[in-house]
Amino acid sequence: MLCKKCGAESSGLGAFCAKCGAPLAEGPVTVVSGTPVVSGELKWGIFVGTLFLPILGIIMGLVYVSDPREPRKIAGRLWVLTGCIAAVLYMMMIAR
Ligand SMILES: [Zn+2]
Repeated sequence: MLCKKCGAESSGLGAFCAKCGAPLAEGPVTVVSGTPVVSGELKWGIFVGTLFLPILGIIMGLVYVSDPREPRKIAGRLWVLTGCIAAVLYMMMIAR
């Protein structure tokens, strides 16, 4: 078996590479949890909340956009965008 980290050939007996010590896992190394990173309820709950309270979406969005996990980034961008649009609409209503 070839080591994914250093490329050294290792015997199939050990669970770790004899050269660099990296685990010789067959499947994906990262453990994927059963629960999604962002649940649909949270995503759309914040979205609806942002329509009434734009600052909620902007703050939540900025927190989630900085998260390295892609589903959180996408949800964060949605909330920031929704928050900005809602904030502009509220300001236009107040300005009248
Ligand atoms: Zn190795």
